[in-house]
Amino acid sequence: MRLISALVALGAAISSMSSGGAAEGRENLQAAGKIGAPFRVVGNIYFVGGQYGAYLITTPEGHILHDTGSADMHDLIVSNVEKLGFNVRDIRIMISSHAHWDHVEGHAAMKRVTGAQVVALGGDAVALRTGQDNSAIGARNFEPVPVDRVVKDGKTVTLGGVTLRALWTGGHTQGATMWMTTVQEGGKSYSVAFRGGEIPNDGAQLLNNPRHPAVVADTQRTIQRLKELDAPDLFLHNHPQDPPQKLDPSLPVDPRCATCFDAKGFRRLVAGAEARFEAMLREAEQKQRPSGR
Ligand SMILES: [Zn+2]
Repeated sequence: MRLISALVALGAAISSMSSGGAAEGRENLQAAGKIGAPFRVVGNIYFVGGQYGAYLITTPEGHILHDTGSADMHDLIVSNVEKLGFNVRDIRIMISSHAHWDHVEGHAAMKRVTGAQVVALGGDAVALRTGQDNSAIGARNFEPVPVDRVVKDGKTVTLGGVTLRALWTGGHTQGATMWMTTVQEGGKSYSVAFRGGEIPNDGAQLLNNPRHPAVVADTQRTIQRLKELDAPDLFLHNHPQDPPQKLDPSLPVDPRCATCFDAKGFRRLVAGAEARFEAMLREAEQKQRPSGR
């Protein structure tokens, strides 16, 4: 029941146009055990669960955890990291796609277990510290967590020879971040991007939003930079897709990956986000116009 109510809440408040499968679809994936089990996606990147997706990026000097999901994903992530043969206490750094409860609610508990350094950008750092959702949609709050390092757009996080670069995509939340890196697999290198977010959630107030006054400009800038970016070879979503995307067959990723998009899939997602946002903005502007004109 907990999962179902979480998914219903997710569908109502958090679902975005690009998350693909309906809540019901994700539930089916969960029921089939397809998104609970951990696996190596590619290179040193592992999927560690669960219904909202979390990734472990391993290095010889400790690990980086991307997203902690909802609070009820904590035990699953811990056991998945251990199932893969890694020690959860070796997690040194925690980063996130964006500060919505379904991706960062588990940060506080994970920091207690690991002592890892929490890294975030701008408005998301504020949301994490206060536990208050400051995004346009204003979804539910979460347990606050100290932020050890606030990074600026374009800056990097480095550990054990692995570097992740932050690309601010602050349309979805104020500090949503696409983290980018390069991995080696079979003697080749691949550019990998972890999804931050693109546009505000359905139902978010776009004009004169008190939580995120610049949401329209920030979203337009986010879309522009995603369009200008060289599409990554592999784009890792933060919500498992049901059915999973069809991938370029030359991409050496685990076939269980329900969060994997290839370069074409990434471009499609960005184009879909742009069209959706234009429609949302038109609707908001029409509603604001005085009637009878
Ligand atoms: Zn979100």
